[in-house]
Amino acid sequence: VLNRFSLEFYSIPENVAFARVAVAAFASQLDCTLPELEEIKVAVSEAVGNAIIHGYRNKPDKIVYLTVTIYKEGLEIQIKDCGNGIADIKLAMQPAFSTDPERMGLGFVFMQSFSDRINVESQKGVGTTITMFK
Ligand code: ATP
Ligand code: MG
Repeated sequence: VLNRFSLEFYSIPENVAFARVAVAAFASQLDCTLPELEEIKVAVSEAVGNAIIHGYRNKPDKIVYLTVTIYKEGLEIQIKDCGNGIADIKLAMQPAFSTDPERMGLGFVFMQSFSDRINVESQKGVGTTITMFK
C-alpha cells in the first residue's frame, strides 16, 4: 500500500459531489489523464448515488463509507453502505436493469467500464460493498 484514505459521510445527495471531488483530488497524485479522472468521478458518483438512493432509500441520517487505496499495481475504490442490500447481484449489474422504473439502470455499466475489476458484495438487509480496481 502506497497511500490510503477513508471517509464517512451522511447519505445526502450533496455528498455525491463531495465524494467524487475527494477521490479525484487524491487520485491526481497518480499520473492519470484528465479523461481518466473524469471516469473515476463518474464511477464514484454512481456508486455513492446508489448507496444513498437504493441502499438507504434516501434516508439522510445513514453513513456511507469510502476508502481509496493506491497500490503499486493501481487504484482501488471501495464504497460501502449498511442499507437494504441487493437481492440478485447478477441481475442488478445487467445494463438497463433498475428496480426503479424512473431510472436508466446504467450506474453499474459506468462502474464496470471504468474498472479493470469490480467486486460487488451484498446481502439483503445487511448492505452492499462495491470495490473497483483500476
Ligand atoms: P441509474 O444508476 O442509471 O440511475 P440504477 O441506479 O437503477 O439507475 P444501477 O446503478 O445500475 O441502476 O443499479 C441497478 C440496480 O441495482 C438498482 O436499481 C438497485 O436495485 C440495485 N442497487 C445498486 N446499488 C445498490 C445498493 N447500494 N443497495 C441496494 N441496491 C442497489
Ligand atoms: Mg445507479
